[in-house]
Amino acid sequence: MQDGQAADSRHSKVLIIGSGPAGYTAGIYAARGALSPILIEGPQPGGQLTITTEVENWPGDESVLGPELMARMGEQVRKAGVEVVSDLIVDVDLTRTPFLAISDGGTHYTADTIVVATGASARWLGLESEAAYRGRGVSACATCDGFFYRGRVCAVVGGGNTAVEEALYLTNFAEKVYLIHRRDTLRADRTNQRRLRANPKIEMIWNAEVAEVLGDTSSVNGIVLRNTRDGTTSQLSLHGLFIAIGHDPATALFKGQLHMDEEGYILVAPGSTATSVPGVFAAGDVQDKLFRQAVTSAGMGCMAALEAERYLAGHNTHMIATDGTDANLQI
Ligand code: FAD
Ligand code: NAP
Repeated sequence: MQDGQAADSRHSKVLIIGSGPAGYTAGIYAARGALSPILIEGPQPGGQLTITTEVENWPGDESVLGPELMARMGEQVRKAGVEVVSDLIVDVDLTRTPFLAISDGGTHYTADTIVVATGASARWLGLESEAAYRGRGVSACATCDGFFYRGRVCAVVGGGNTAVEEALYLTNFAEKVYLIHRRDTLRADRTNQRRLRANPKIEMIWNAEVAEVLGDTSSVNGIVLRNTRDGTTSQLSLHGLFIAIGHDPATALFKGQLHMDEEGYILVAPGSTATSVPGVFAAGDVQDKLFRQAVTSAGMGCMAALEAERYLAGHNTHMIATDGTDANLQI
């Protein structure tokens, strides 16, 4: 990797990569700390909440649409003085200081500290037929594609909050929705489970996985189900298949440079957002596979900005050892 001598080169004290709740909150705090942060929006401005409908657990809003909430947050971030840049980081060098991040357009962003808030993205089953019908009946976003299934039959795969919410949302359009789960208990919270049970349009299919997606040349018309207990297979006719089986952290950029767990989540010191590289902080879904909520991500964004501020002021910060434990320190 080249150093920061590119034609288009920008320096900041704090570079925030990501524009979800974590990145935006880090931006607000860093700007209020007079650190003039640059925030890179990435491929999904506003992050994951822009593909959902009602958010009912964001404090201060009894119910708010995800895209609306993120638009408001973005507005607040800009008003706070954060420079929000529509760009995508494709390479980083955290072995040098200032750190270097390069965008797909070739801009070199150098920075004294970095807040990594790149979040996570939808996971797929990995079937060839699933990939073949993606966008033609297979989707990972009911909010985006549910409308196309008015009066039709759909299925959602998964047993977490996302799967249940996708199934509930689809009942606004579809005539019937199957929720297919590989076990016989859901991971989704009690409120969602209660709503699920109360919805007559949803039918659970327990202990089953999708073995194949069926269709004609243009669209999906069914799936092959495999029972996870006895291996028997059966067919189900449907028009839309929504995959909601979780997410992968967007950390490929940082592989080999930041310590990660076996699933690719960035390791941070306990009670901190400090990564294995002093001056680099990680906030939100990119480092959290337990809570993965907007409000916890925002909280971590706040922590990251405050820790960056302390780091820049020359205070000791946390740091993690190779085994992931806190190698040090006091703030
Ligand atoms: P994200 O929101 O994932 O944002 C990541 C950001 O990083 C994006 O802006 C992206 O553009 C950027 N980025 C990625 N790669 C790069 C790169 N290479 N260069 C530059 N930028 C990059 N949580 C709740 O609390 N309540 C809910 O009701 C709720 N509903 C949900 C519904 C759905 C369908 C989903 C999928 C999630 C839901 N969640 C909900 C979870 C919540 O959305 C996430 O926990 C939260 O958005 C994580 O925030 P984040 O800032 O860490 O990352
Ligand atoms: P999740 O909680 O990790 O659940 C993923 C589900 O998919 C699990 O039930 C899992 O089965 C199943 N699964 C995983 N891989 C599979 C495969 N290959 N084949 C079939 N099934 C598979 O993910 P999520 O539902 O996307 O939620 C992510 C986070 O966001 C969670 O923390 C959730 O609470 C949060 N969220 C919150 C809200 C809310 O608060 N209203 C809404 C949406 C999301 P097993 O159960 O067998 O592992």
